Amino acid sequence: MKIPFNKPFTIADELANIASAVRQGHIAGDGPYTRRCHEWLERNLSTHKALLTHSCTAALEMSAILCDLSPGDEVILPSFTFVSTANAFVLRGAVPVFVDIRRDTLNLDERLIEAAVTSRTRAIVPVHYAGVACEMDAIMQIAERHGLVVAEDAAQAILAEYKGRKLGAIGHLGCLSFHETKNVISGEGGALLVNDERLVERAEIVREKGTNRSKFFRGEVDKYTWVDIGSSYLPSELIGAFLWAQLEHAAEIIAKRRALCAAYRAGLSGLAASGRLALPQPAPDGVIANGHMFYVLACDLAERTALIEHLKARGIYAVFHYVPLHSSPAGRRFGRAAGELTVTDEVSSRLVRLPLYYELAESDVEQIVDAVKAFFVK
Ligand SMILES: *Cc1c(COP(=O)(O)O)cnc(C)c1O
Repeated sequence: MKIPFNKPFTIADELANIASAVRQGHIAGDGPYTRRCHEWLERNLSTHKALLTHSCTAALEMSAILCDLSPGDEVILPSFTFVSTANAFVLRGAVPVFVDIRRDTLNLDERLIEAAVTSRTRAIVPVHYAGVACEMDAIMQIAERHGLVVAEDAAQAILAEYKGRKLGAIGHLGCLSFHETKNVISGEGGALLVNDERLVERAEIVREKGTNRSKFFRGEVDKYTWVDIGSSYLPSELIGAFLWAQLEHAAEIIAKRRALCAAYRAGLSGLAASGRLALPQPAPDGVIANGHMFYVLACDLAERTALIEHLKARGIYAVFHYVPLHSSPAGRRFGRAAGELTVTDEVSSRLVRLPLYYELAESDVEQIVDAVKAFFVK
């Protein structure tokens, strides 16, 4: 018996939708399924404009273009994140400035942001780790004081909330991922949420290779032409068809994942109470997570490595997470750290993510909990 870390799944009509898109003869981007996905995201997340992309990475790259950066401009972001959060901005010549994270949520520490702002700072990119919201009120206030763009990396955060608002829909821009490791999936896939109305027209152009093709299809111009920089950021309609089935069942997927997280927490609470390992902190007031991830913190790197090996020997695949970007070869070359990133360094060496996917059974969680207990209680 093996329990993988992640397992892609279908929940409803994904395959039938793909067949139907093929029969209807529209498999390039922006067909009827893609439009339904756009409307669903706009309605359920409350944003002006949702645009499907081929990945969250693409949505981040579009955000970087929309920030109008010049070489040497600076972007504030955590070091404890996926490479795309930084790389998208480096592609535009910007310098990522890495700020430390909070010990409770592992999110960008909003109390450290203002000290990292310089005359070159143009944007803040908060990452909602594990689908738990950053302190968006404080972040938006800092951005306003300094005239900065806020582009949320909400790759892990679909339908998670901050004070009644959906993550990705609070900053000027928000980026979602539908990669097969996320809650709602389409293999590869993502979306850009354009929350600031002033950026909508340009976002459509950037996504359509720098042309005004979207306006042309709406009959707003009589021919389309090259008007700005851009690339091909839209996914095939086959992706939209798959994703539409998942979006229709998004609430169900998230409810299941939250229940699995609760089962992990209940099962491991004894070990946590005796101080053998640390569990994720309960979400701050007003923050509702989406069951994206369940992690535990071992006491140090050696114990973390031994725990992963112990689980693997029992057919359970648990994994660590980010190598902090400020200590990666490209991070050192292109970016800089704002002060000591103590929490980032410590957490990244202690964190273990336990298996979590839609088809994981509560009995699997029990088996994993027992294996974790067997490691600590010898
Ligand atoms: C998954 C992830 C991404 C990248 O998403 P893709 O859709 O694979 O490009 C970016 N940022 C964070 C925080 C992620 O978890």
